[in-house]
Amino acid sequence: MNELDLRNNDIPPETNAPDEEETDFFDEGLLSFIESMDVVKPPAANVIIIPEELERDDAYSGKLYGFLRLDSGYHVALGMDGKEPNEALGAEWIGSIGDAPMPENAPFLVGEWENGQSRFFLQKSPDVRIPLQKEVYSLRQKLFSRHSGLIETDWMDKKCVVIVGCGSVGSAIALQMARSGVGRFVLLDADCVEINNVCRHQCSLRDVGRFKADALEERILQINPYALVRKRYQRIQQAPASTYSGWADADNALFIGACDNRVGNACACDAANEQGAPFLAIGYMARAWAGELFIQLPERGDICYRCAFRKQIENDVTRERRNHLYVGEEDAGKVHFEPGLDVDLEYGTSLADKVALDILNRSNPQYHPRILPTLSQLTFFSGTQDRPAEGREFWDAALPRPLDYRSVKVSPKCRRPDCPYCSKV
Ligand SMILES: [Zn+2]
Repeated sequence: MNELDLRNNDIPPETNAPDEEETDFFDEGLLSFIESMDVVKPPAANVIIIPEELERDDAYSGKLYGFLRLDSGYHVALGMDGKEPNEALGAEWIGSIGDAPMPENAPFLVGEWENGQSRFFLQKSPDVRIPLQKEVYSLRQKLFSRHSGLIETDWMDKKCVVIVGCGSVGSAIALQMARSGVGRFVLLDADCVEINNVCRHQCSLRDVGRFKADALEERILQINPYALVRKRYQRIQQAPASTYSGWADADNALFIGACDNRVGNACACDAANEQGAPFLAIGYMARAWAGELFIQLPERGDICYRCAFRKQIENDVTRERRNHLYVGEEDAGKVHFEPGLDVDLEYGTSLADKVALDILNRSNPQYHPRILPTLSQLTFFSGTQDRPAEGREFWDAALPRPLDYRSVKVSPKCRRPDCPYCSKV
């Protein structure tokens, strides 16, 4: 009897009666054995990976930090060099090497030097010591080794993103930039992580009550411990120029407006213009069914955000109306973008990630731009098919399918004659 028959409950009892004994065997014996194999972990690898800095330093005696992975047996000395505790990574004291005190209780790692070579053991219990196979890694090389031929690590290391607003959108873009190898971050946000943020933020319940900038910094450093981070627990309007000193210039910096209101993004654009740096803003409409990307590149003589959205900013607009975005006839306080589900935010932030990478690499002849050359200053995108009834006809014509985007030009008439940044272009 094959397995298919065994699982067929429709067979009348009399027809399979002769095979009952075999059936029981397979049901309770073989099948449960096969199922148990799915959850049995493979034997421990008994490997230790150590940073090359540690291997080079044959005089080092002292503590080692990282993680003992007793289940997989794939232990790791981790941090900048494995010798220092790394707060962002939460690396623990896992043992010592050379003539140095060991932890009081097993398990711990025991390192020895012999003829300039290190070797390691896992002291699993007071009586059991297991030799470990050693693998040496270079954190710097290994971190971004999968970028080879796509992005230059050394180039990205000098780049700086200024994240104005470390909420759901700002945190998502910041982490993508960290994964892309951006080496410098300025994080501006005065708020703390709340429980209701967690469902669409890169941080988690363990961050509740922390400043968003602190929690995000930790996530960045968990991806790239070499990244440099400056934080300001204030609005961009209040941040002193020293916030950007040495980091924010046209070639190396990008200001990203990820505020939930236009006034914040306008101030972020002002700050970018003061530094002569490019600017990118992203905003969403109610429930994240659609959104917009705004790009200002200084070398193109682009119109600034404050001019492009002049009326909306002046009126502190909140409404979208047929054929218009953010038409401002009501004095309804500041504009509130209302991000919805994180899955619906993702598409817009993904577009913003690509544009950000393109901007940071726009003077690199080795780099192949992703989407920037296809976009003008303002791009609308549709996140879902879940569209509001109001203006539906217009939006269906403009963005016929979900995940469509359409770039439009900002009219030169928008330029304010007294704008210090774009009136003279
Ligand atoms: Zn302007």
